[in-house]
Amino acid sequence: MKIPFFNYADRYAEDREKIKEIVYNVGTSDNFILKERVIEFEEAIGRYTGAKHVIAVANGTTALTILLKAMGVGPGVEVLTPAFSFISTASSIALLGGTPVFVDVDPLTGMMDPHDLERRITPASKVVIPTHLFSVMADMNAINEIARKHHLIVLEDSAVALGAHQNGAMAGLLGDAGLYSFFPAKPLGGIGDGAVIVTDNDDFGRISRMLRNHGQDGITRFYHHMLGYNNRMDETVASYLTHKLGRYDKLLNRRREIASKYNEAFGSLAPMIQVVTHAHEERVYYTYVLQADKRDELRSYLQSRGIETQIYYPSALPLQPAFAYLGHKPEDFPNAEAITGRSLALPLYAEMPDDHVQDVITAVTEFHAEVKIHV
Ligand SMILES: *Cc1c(COP(=O)(O)O)cnc(C)c1O
Repeated sequence: MKIPFFNYADRYAEDREKIKEIVYNVGTSDNFILKERVIEFEEAIGRYTGAKHVIAVANGTTALTILLKAMGVGPGVEVLTPAFSFISTASSIALLGGTPVFVDVDPLTGMMDPHDLERRITPASKVVIPTHLFSVMADMNAINEIARKHHLIVLEDSAVALGAHQNGAMAGLLGDAGLYSFFPAKPLGGIGDGAVIVTDNDDFGRISRMLRNHGQDGITRFYHHMLGYNNRMDETVASYLTHKLGRYDKLLNRRREIASKYNEAFGSLAPMIQVVTHAHEERVYYTYVLQADKRDELRSYLQSRGIETQIYYPSALPLQPAFAYLGHKPEDFPNAEAITGRSLALPLYAEMPDDHVQDVITAVTEFHAEVKIHV
């Protein structure tokens, strides 16, 4: 591939020496897990976001599980969750014995549809998980209002939205609790799995802190207030993330700069190609996803030009084999189903050179011009 979708070599190139130093220092320190480097990273995220409680955990999936458990999700409890998302947003509910109640999404943005949300609330509903995907954010005003009306707890799946804003407030802190994932592909990618839980709610903060480490309070060892998990963050991961957080805003600005070139070039290709351009300055461009009528043809065309793309996500969650037991049909979630056939993610990362960005724009534009000639 001339222009790869994931370019980890370029994304981590600047840190090669730093990573060697971190692995050496941690490896010879006798302190491997949940020690001073993890505390330092939690404090750094606290300063960056303003969150009252920051709890470092092993990965974003586990952050969702811990929060749902802290919120009282288990058998007989329903959790409203988008029909179009990464599997964790729904599997974490089901693995605790709760019932995922899928909500359809907006046909262009792929975000949870507040009207459909309100229709699917029942007396057993306890939590709603608005999810921010790619570079777009769920409509938190509308969802928070519905949640207040129906006494639902709002767990914001902000796994990919560290640094994004809505109405002047940070993604992750727009509901009752949120999380950020540091899986290497994510905007702040680490050297391994990792995530943090963020919340201003004292109970969710205190309980999450215990659940990540076998129900211990971090003060008295081998005293277990509750049954918990081994879902802790490693010192190597934390140390690297503290280092990278120092240049995170610069990385986000570069991502936004590339996205604005894409937005400008593809905005004129509507309706064949549709892009989300609103709230540009407030968003974090984790992946750049467009909607294309001829998605599969466009993908092959780009492939033939050496440009690698990805499909996020090829199937709506309720239709995954793992959720067959819920008995859903495609017509239950028409927008989620339609989006899976139209979404295409283009390469975008902070270290991407300008000429590669231009090559992608040229190829997408030329594909569109050829299609026009043939209709
Ligand atoms: C990546 C992701 C997660 C899970 O994070 P991991 O650290 O990979 O477990 C959850 N939700 C969304 C929307 C994600 O993109």
